[in-house]
Amino acid sequence: MTENTDFETGLKEECGVFGMYDLDGHDVSRSIYYGLEALQHRGQESCGIAVSDTSGPKGRVKSYKGLGLLSEVFHTGQFDSLSGNIGIGHVRYSTSGSLNINNAQPLVLNYLKGSLALAHNGNLVNALQLREEMENAGAIFHTSIDSEVIAHCIARERVNSGCIEDAVKKACDHIRGAFAIVLMSPRKLIGVRDPYGLRPLCIGQRDNAYVLASEDCALHSIGAHFIRDVKPGEVVTINSRGEISSEFLDDVVPREKQAHCIFEYIYFARLDSCIDGVEVYNARIRGGASLARCYPVDADIVAGVPDSGLAAAKGYSEASGIPYAIAFHKNSYVGRTFIKPSQDERESSVKIKLSVIGSVVKGKRVVLVDDSIVRGTTIANLIRTLKHCGATEVHVRISSPPFLHPCYFGVDVPSNKQLIASQMSVEQIRKKIGADSLGYMPIRELPDMVGDLPICRACFNNEYPMEVPDHEIRDELGD
Ligand code: SF4
Repeated sequence: MTENTDFETGLKEECGVFGMYDLDGHDVSRSIYYGLEALQHRGQESCGIAVSDTSGPKGRVKSYKGLGLLSEVFHTGQFDSLSGNIGIGHVRYSTSGSLNINNAQPLVLNYLKGSLALAHNGNLVNALQLREEMENAGAIFHTSIDSEVIAHCIARERVNSGCIEDAVKKACDHIRGAFAIVLMSPRKLIGVRDPYGLRPLCIGQRDNAYVLASEDCALHSIGAHFIRDVKPGEVVTINSRGEISSEFLDDVVPREKQAHCIFEYIYFARLDSCIDGVEVYNARIRGGASLARCYPVDADIVAGVPDSGLAAAKGYSEASGIPYAIAFHKNSYVGRTFIKPSQDERESSVKIKLSVIGSVVKGKRVVLVDDSIVRGTTIANLIRTLKHCGATEVHVRISSPPFLHPCYFGVDVPSNKQLIASQMSVEQIRKKIGADSLGYMPIRELPDMVGDLPICRACFNNEYPMEVPDHEIRDELGD
């Protein structure tokens, strides 16, 4: 017997960025497209590509962007008009600024010194304040996203700087928060990462072309090899001679104060990526093993919720000795309802079709592993369906601690009112979702997933790595 169940995703990835500079002069737009496709999991609401020709007239940037998946926005013909050997691209989920085409990236800016194109992943904590200051000084904004604030800061600093790298460095002195930026000036490709390392960014190479990408899975998808991660607080510049220069922001923080987002490893990043020296797959296996140690249970099979619960389930199985089983079939061909960012719309329209494989679960005590519980409706549906298909017990193990606090760094953790863990105890949640037992990853176990990498875990323990907006501004941000 199989039974279908719908479930909505609870958390949203932030954005993915990609940049490429081909020193031999070949067009890069198709490679950028394929690189972005490998980053599509980081954002599905809009996408765009901007390219330029380093041997052509300075400042002629061609760009194309739209709402939806890459495959919905780009068609073969568009690549003919996107010729150029330097370019950047972006996939977006709207964590700040509403969903409309104006907010799609890359942003292209024409100003006194020529043109700039910029793509950004992350959220600033002082964007509202900076925007207000700039508007008071006469600046006009065309979007409601933080990235335009960054672009304005860079353009303003460029007027009094000898080169674009200096302008970027000076601009980053003003901005606070999470940022992984790729930026294209007429002859240079630049990557910047915030001083805490909250969002990932890495450098790769294919023949005589250099690449910047949110995750190394995007490098591999175009046949590029990984060179290294951009370091927290680093500004990397690739120039027309193929030199990669490196500078650091003035406010770079010591390693022990860095704060790499642990949720990249638990959920956001692709399973085949390696970020800051930690393989995402291995991190999830270790997470599952921690759960097995902390919450052992007598059961017949361990199953993961596709996709991000699968590796943690394998880790649980290996550590506990309980056989790993594939209990769900995920239908990858279910039509995608366009994702809208309001809460109600998200609840109803962000659905993925899963089927329980009845013969696997019938008569079995199941350990069900997932990455998170946000509102609780998804897991409750799955438990109900598993039991309907004959599972005798369902023990839920969650590879993240309970979400209790909002994220100000580019991850759409819903407001406290919608977070089930901030409204109920673990036992109340267990009863509500219909599980026979429930265990969340203890916060103290998180570092074990990533070795000695310093991590941000503020959405679990309220200890933010930097000052975050006060309550008044939090309200404006929708908290
Ligand atoms: Fe990641 Fe949570 Fe920190 Fe946001 S608050 S950056 S989701 S660990």
